[in-house]
Amino acid sequence: MRTLTSHLLGAWQPAGAPSATLVNPATEEPLANVSRASDLGKAVAYGREVGGPALRALSFKARGELLSGLSKVLYAHREELLDLAMVSGGCTRGDAKFDVDGAMGVLAAYAQVAEGLGEQPWIIDDEPASVFRTSKVRVQHVSLPRHGIAVHINAFNFPAWGMIGKAAVALLAGMPVISKPATSTCLLAHRIAEIIVDAKILPEGAFQFLAGSAGDLLDHVGPQDVIAFTGSAATGAKIRGHAAVLANNVRVNIEADSLNAVVLGPDLERGTELFDLAIRDAITELTQKTGQKCTATRRILVPEGLLEGVREAIGEGLARRASVTGDPTVKGVKMGPLASAQQLADAREGIRALQADATIVQGDPAREGFEGVSEGKGYFLEPILLEATSEAALRADAAFHRVEVFAPVATLLPYDGSIGAAAAIIRAGEGSLVSTVYSDDRKFTAAAVAELSPHLGRLVINDEKNAGGAFSPGCVFPQGNHGGPGRAGCGAELGGTFGLDLYMQRTAIQGGASQLARLLGRRSAAS
Ligand code: NAP
Repeated sequence: MRTLTSHLLGAWQPAGAPSATLVNPATEEPLANVSRASDLGKAVAYGREVGGPALRALSFKARGELLSGLSKVLYAHREELLDLAMVSGGCTRGDAKFDVDGAMGVLAAYAQVAEGLGEQPWIIDDEPASVFRTSKVRVQHVSLPRHGIAVHINAFNFPAWGMIGKAAVALLAGMPVISKPATSTCLLAHRIAEIIVDAKILPEGAFQFLAGSAGDLLDHVGPQDVIAFTGSAATGAKIRGHAAVLANNVRVNIEADSLNAVVLGPDLERGTELFDLAIRDAITELTQKTGQKCTATRRILVPEGLLEGVREAIGEGLARRASVTGDPTVKGVKMGPLASAQQLADAREGIRALQADATIVQGDPAREGFEGVSEGKGYFLEPILLEATSEAALRADAAFHRVEVFAPVATLLPYDGSIGAAAAIIRAGEGSLVSTVYSDDRKFTAAAVAELSPHLGRLVINDEKNAGGAFSPGCVFPQGNHGGPGRAGCGAELGGTFGLDLYMQRTAIQGGASQLARLLGRRSAAS
């Protein structure tokens, strides 16, 4: 069996003793061993000293061309990558596309952002501002790439999109990357790293790949470095509290747990396209990637009068999906296993926690026997729908407001249809990546924007008019912000040019009006 290693200091590292074995989560068949690297200080320095200057010597436009090149080379390997995602990550082909095509989509989107930033190596953020009415002194803000390394630590659920989505933004900003995927699903990320290395598109030192655990990586971070982490809140807290991170005030971006909620508006009626969209989205969000999406819906707010119809419609859809759950390589299977034995154990424990405040109305967490699966094998869980009472829904300490079950699991929360109750329930999640409102009531949606947005990274608003062309809320587009306050980690990634902020230093340049005009050029400093 092959052993996956790291690509550091411009070379694939020799394999040492295996630190983990990767398995197919549908069959438990071993796929590869992973060997971890040590002494990572040299890799951090190499990225800073070799990759950083090489990237900073290029304009935004030239860096954007690197991203286009990467997108094309990954596309050339698309079928192989989709197959690998299915075998190593428990993904259906649709799930695999979501991850792999999503990765190429971010590269293409940031290549387009680059075109708008042009030939200069910095971003001029604003017009020169006069400091005093009678003075010629002006202040103007400029953003330049940080002179450090971007340390990317990713979660297990998106080995392709997670790694490439972060790398695309850092590379365009002009920062070299060291990318560490989650170990359990790193086979796909490792293959992508091989393709990137073999393509020789990026300058030397711009991209390094770390297989296995993070080891001593964080001991070497310094004041110009950036850490972008995606994973559990517990690991996020460890990273934030790491001694070197604290001592050097390292910039850290955390994407962590999120109890995303959707709000079915008080005016929603059965028989409308909007109602059907809400039901379809709920089923997609519960079952896509077997519910292992940071943006998946965990709480479904339903006006009390609509509860029975919604329970019935979602329940029917989930029952259909449960009957086609199994090995994703088997024809007709629409939902695969969870990614690891640990995920399955955590999910079952999480469901037990939710049952303290809600009742299961669809699905059996102990079910065995799935499509194309040998008896007792694989990490399968059929979709589970729970329901709480209206009183429990408003209790901020209820388990469904605190426990993220990273699996095909969500809870129906009846509410009285008022924006006050909806906002109280959303707030109880203490900060989420995304919420969605389904309503044609303009007053309700306007109030939702005002009351819900401060608790969210993204708010999706669907009405009858756009129901035909809407995307399910778990789709993260590179043009929109990804990240949320509080429990969601208080991070911000993607969001078009906003995403570059994480990797750049904004500096106020202060000087005489004509001098600023000469130095910074693009905008007139004499005004
Ligand atoms: P995790 O266990 O926290 O692991 C995340 C990453 O951190 C992995 O690469 C892991 O490496 C690494 N890691 C673990 N301990 C570390 C340490 N002490 N120092 C440095 N790195 C360390 O999370 P997960 O199980 O992969 O992911 C599931 C969680 O991610 C869920 O809670 C989900 O909500 C969250 N998530 C959030 C988003 C978002 O965008 N907000 C997206 C996806 C997932 P090893 O694998 O080698 O241990």
